[in-house]
Amino acid sequence: MKDFHGKVAVVTGVASGMGRELALELARQGAKLSLCDYDPAGLEKTAEDARALGAEVHTKVVNVGEREQILAYADEVAEHYGVVNLVFNNAGIAHHASVEKTSFKDYDRLMDVDFWGVVNSSKAFLPHLIASGDGHIANTSSIFGVLGVGGQSAYNAAKFAVRGFTEALRIEMLASGHNVGVSCVHPGGIKTDICNNATVGEGQDQASFAAFFNKYLARTSADSAARTILH
Ligand code: NAD
Repeated sequence: MKDFHGKVAVVTGVASGMGRELALELARQGAKLSLCDYDPAGLEKTAEDARALGAEVHTKVVNVGEREQILAYADEVAEHYGVVNLVFNNAGIAHHASVEKTSFKDYDRLMDVDFWGVVNSSKAFLPHLIASGDGHIANTSSIFGVLGVGGQSAYNAAKFAVRGFTEALRIEMLASGHNVGVSCVHPGGIKTDICNNATVGEGQDQASFAAFFNKYLARTSADSAARTILH
């Protein structure tokens, strides 16, 4: 999808980082927006800024890991606008710890948001995207959905799973003849809050992990990443 003008676009996880910048760039390009996040204040701030750019904006506080919430949200967006053209599954969290220091609870938490959040939303919106006759779904994996890295096994596993799920959906949509494009996004190091908010394993230092990521790995700004992704 190249021309977003007049299209109805959903973005998850818009309170900060790339989700916020994707929402603002889609607003600049004339899309009608539905935005969600589990952070109500951040969600409203992004919505306000998108409205200031002239966009029509619908919002909903949603935890993407909660299946019932996102199923209800998808129906609400379809009812509100009558159609859904683009769904950008962006919401995500990070956890930094060795396998030995990652608890089963941590694996569940990362999978609930980073993997199940994508599956929940993709399945919830798919019937609406098919019905639109002109739909696209973009799922956010990571460079760590392609390459393994020590100290990120929960994130690594969830993002590899997103890549596999998205590839299967892409093949199915191609074969189906429905006009629904499917893409998987694999960003590298982008300057956002994700590492400042990341949880770490027992005995590890959150501040030094975030400082290391922000200094050596995060090279691109979120607004530039958002423009590149939408291009
Ligand atoms: P960020 O922390 O700035 O933004 C994440 C957003 O998701 C926040 O607004 C947060 O409130 C929201 N969110 C988190 N859990 C949620 C939930 N359960 N329900 C609803 N909203 C939720 O981080 P970001 O870097 O902009 O991350 C965006 C996406 O890009 C994530 O999927 C992340 O894994 C991915 N990514 C980021 C990088 C990077 O270097 N920053 C690299 C590769 C992939």
